[in-house]
Amino acid sequence: MVDGLGIPPTGWTKSFFSEFHKEFSTLLSKNSIPVSTDMEIQGIPQSATGQTSLFTGVNSAKQLGMHLQGFPSLKLREIIIGNNIFKFLIENGLRVSFANAYIRYTLEELKNMNFRSVTTVMTESAIGWVRNIENILANKAVYHDITSETAQTASPFIKKISPEKAAENLLSVAREHDFTLFEYFLTDRAGHKMDMNALKNSISNLGRFVVEITKSLGNSTSLILTSDHGNSENMAVRTHTSNPVPFMGINLNMDNLETINIQDIFSIVAKNIVS
Ligand SMILES: [Zn+2]
Repeated sequence: MVDGLGIPPTGWTKSFFSEFHKEFSTLLSKNSIPVSTDMEIQGIPQSATGQTSLFTGVNSAKQLGMHLQGFPSLKLREIIIGNNIFKFLIENGLRVSFANAYIRYTLEELKNMNFRSVTTVMTESAIGWVRNIENILANKAVYHDITSETAQTASPFIKKISPEKAAENLLSVAREHDFTLFEYFLTDRAGHKMDMNALKNSISNLGRFVVEITKSLGNSTSLILTSDHGNSENMAVRTHTSNPVPFMGINLNMDNLETINIQDIFSIVAKNIVS
C-alpha cells in the first residue's frame, strides 16, 4: 500500500514519475486499473477512511458520512477490528504478515499515545505483534522508508540497504506467508510538503524496490500495489486529490475489470488468495 499515489492525469508514462523511474511507470501503466476513492461521499479522500475501506471492504466514508484524515476514530477502529484482510485470511487458515518494522515504539506505547494507523489497528487485532529491530537485523522486515536510512538512529547495528536488498527481504518474509503487506507513506509526505526532490528520491527507491520484486516474484506469487487516495501526482497542491489511484496486479486474476472502487479491493484480493 503506497500512501498518496494517484494516477497522473497525463498517464504514467508521460508524467514526472516516468522521469523518476521509467520502468516503474511502465509497470503501472501496463498492469494497473483506476480505482475511485470518493466512496460516493463529497470532499477530498483521506487516509483513515480510505485505508479502512481498502483493508475491510466496507464503505467507511459512507458509514461516517465524511472522509476522515489521519488515524481511525473509534467507529473506524470497530469496523477494522470487526473484519479486515488479515482477520479474514487467518480465519481461512492462511498465514499473514505485516512486513513493516516498528522500531521506535511498541504496540502498547502506540496505544497509550493514541497513535495508531489503520494498519497498526489491523495488525494488533488480528496478528497481535509487529516486527521490530531484531527482525530488521535478521532481514525479516522492511523499514517504512524501504532502505532503513532513517532507522539508523534507532540502532547502531542497522545499516542502510539498497531498495533491491529490501525487496529481497520482503520476498523472504512473503515466502513464509500466504499474504504479506508492506506500507509506504513517503509519497504522501512529499506531496504534502510539495517537495519535488523528496518525491524524486521516494519514487526512485519505491520504483527500484517494486521492479526488483517483480523480477524475483516467480509464477506462483502475486504482487498487488494500490493506494488510499491521490496526492503526489499533483505537486501543485498541498492536499490530497480526488484523482483515481492505481490497482496493480501481477499474477493476479482481475476478472477483466476496467475500473473499481476502493472498497472493492478487499474482495478481489481475498478471492485471489483463498481460491
Ligand atoms: Zn496525507
